[in-house]
Amino acid sequence: MQSDSGKTVSVWMDTIKMPTFAPLEEDLSCDVCIVGAGIVGLTTAYHLVRAGADVVILDDGEVCGGETSRTTAHLSCVLDDRFQWLERVHGEKRVRESTSSHMAAINRIEAIVREEKIECDFARVPGYLLLGKSDAPDFLDRELEGFGELFRMLSYEQVGAAAMLSRALGGVSRGKAVFALPGSRRAVELGMEKLVVPELRHVVFEVRKLP
Ligand SMILES: Cc1cc2nc3c(=O)[nH]c(=O)nc-3n(C[C@H](O)[C@H](O)[C@H](O)COP(=O)(O)OP(=O)(O)OC[C@H]3O[C@@H](n4cnc5c(N)ncnc54)[C@H](O)[C@@H]3O)c2cc1C
Repeated sequence: MQSDSGKTVSVWMDTIKMPTFAPLEEDLSCDVCIVGAGIVGLTTAYHLVRAGADVVILDDGEVCGGETSRTTAHLSCVLDDRFQWLERVHGEKRVRESTSSHMAAINRIEAIVREEKIECDFARVPGYLLLGKSDAPDFLDRELEGFGELFRMLSYEQVGAAAMLSRALGGVSRGKAVFALPGSRRAVELGMEKLVVPELRHVVFEVRKLP
């Protein structure tokens, strides 16, 4: 794959041959014209075509030759900017919206992989957030405080507005990680399966480092 920019070569650029297309030399008509054949343009086109639209995609370089050729293909709803910063700048409502929209996008990608039988080794794996050298020692504690928000977001998908009654919270007390979940069986299963168990080893690892 040829990259449109940058000096380094990603694993995709090194191992994947993308289809190439001749320059457009005639007038075309279509329902929708998309400029940019990166993951965003192609995904938009995919959904439009499935909905029955006639779509043309234009690009001044190779298909996926832009930023898409450099992705590490790591899909996560835990955004790089971190919950504590996002909440401070955009407010809790927006953080919930962006997190759930990322979760929906990942679910959609998984569905497309399954429906189209794409052999891309899509896998759901535990995620680990490590303390960087320049991060304050309490950085992860503060991030952990997002546990309650994450729980309410997941819970909202199950029980709707009643999720706001949840007092779920997570934090560190006297050197121990503490998670408080509502008492119903479904709530405990949700919190344990989606949040606590996948992240527990990492949480314990980080808590042990605290002074
Ligand atoms: C090193 C690196 C690692 C990353 N890792 C991850 C990751 O792990 N997980 C993740 O989710 N995201 C990651 N990202 C971000 C992710 O790659 C981008 O968000 C995503 O690829 C953007 O897709 P796009 O379609 O918007 O843009 P692009 O892939 O850049 O596509 C835009 C296309 O538009 C074309 N174009 C632009 N202007 C014009 C024009 N005027 N006329 C015609 N064509 C035009 C370009 O040629 C290009 O092909 C990473 C990014 C980088 C750089």
